[in-house]
Amino acid sequence: MTTIKLKPKRDNPTRHRHPWIFSGAIADVKGSPQRGETVAVINNQGDLLGFGAWSPDSQIRVRMWDFGECAPINETFFANRIQDALAVRKGMTTRFETNALRLINAEADGLPGVTIDLYDTTLVGQFTTTGAEANKQTLVKVLMDATGATSFYERSDVDGRLREGLEYTSGLLAGNEPPSKIHIHEREVNFEVDVRLGHKTGFYLDQRENRRIIATYAQGQTMLNTFAFTGGFGIAAQAVGAAHVTHIDISETALEQAKINATLNDNSKHVTFQKANVFEALRTYRDKAKTFDIVVLDPPKFAENRSQTMKALRGYKDINLLGIKLVQRGGLLATFSCSGAIDPQIFRTMVTEAAHDAGRDIRILNELRQAPDHVESLTFPEGFYLKGLLCRVL
Ligand code: SAH
Repeated sequence: MTTIKLKPKRDNPTRHRHPWIFSGAIADVKGSPQRGETVAVINNQGDLLGFGAWSPDSQIRVRMWDFGECAPINETFFANRIQDALAVRKGMTTRFETNALRLINAEADGLPGVTIDLYDTTLVGQFTTTGAEANKQTLVKVLMDATGATSFYERSDVDGRLREGLEYTSGLLAGNEPPSKIHIHEREVNFEVDVRLGHKTGFYLDQRENRRIIATYAQGQTMLNTFAFTGGFGIAAQAVGAAHVTHIDISETALEQAKINATLNDNSKHVTFQKANVFEALRTYRDKAKTFDIVVLDPPKFAENRSQTMKALRGYKDINLLGIKLVQRGGLLATFSCSGAIDPQIFRTMVTEAAHDAGRDIRILNELRQAPDHVESLTFPEGFYLKGLLCRVL
């Protein structure tokens, strides 16, 4: 097996079980490992730090599978990691009354590059790293056995793969072709998910608990649901009897699915679907002095990495300033960022500045984050990406 030796004093993150080893920390490679091959990692004194997957094209040159004098990285290892991940989520399907759950959250579940969601009886996977790709067949077999799923569909059409020297790939990995639309529910709220074409693995499961929290305020209220995708927050609000929901998205396909989702739930009469650029639509509403009881801002990732932070913050500030102005006095703003590069404190400061510029006062009701099945690990802070604030706007 190839051995990777780290430079002096560069073993600290690995000793503290952080899974990434950057190219700059590596002193020496003894052997010529294939892409995705398991390599041993030692510090400069020669102490074994653990085993990881070799990724020659990425700045993150090794992603650790396990630390210290661990067992071999084989089918049993992956089966144990998957059992651990399922044990972490024990009871969650009942607690959230759902048939759609994230089962494996990559690094935070000790499986770098492996993201697996379950939609009813269909598993949908993203294998974003060389190590995940090299062990894909084993992972598929173990996951099918462990879950009893009827289908396993791959959605590895993500940019991260290109940085790893891998190509996009999608399609059936095991079992039967999944249905064209999978019916999922979150408590009493119904959605259809297209696992072949929907964003990510098909749906934003990470917002599940935030949909529930915001919906508790929505009965009899008007809501502006920006960046609606297939309806998410607005459908949950509609299901509890919102007075009216306006969904805005730039994607026709997303809005078509949002319309179907609206019909799957009660009270679907008081809903408007608007195909528009949110940046422009918010300005139009502002110019017409239109207001809503609840405004939801759930934009896509504006910052892919730290170097884009400033530009991203300008975008967030713009929509937050406009969004705050559109909230009826005493109404609610639910505002999010799913950029890992924007930390919660910076996000708060941005909202503070937006409220100041809008001349409005804000009280925070809830600090929001990714749903608990999108588990976070203390040794991998990078895995915490979705943050939000639910605010009363005075
Ligand atoms: N709130 C959704 C997820 C939002 S994903 C949910 O809970 O399911 C981001 C969405 O923003 C995508 O559907 C994308 O089509 C849309 N989008 C991206 N840029 C946009 C823009 N400038 N104007 C309107 N919609 C946009």
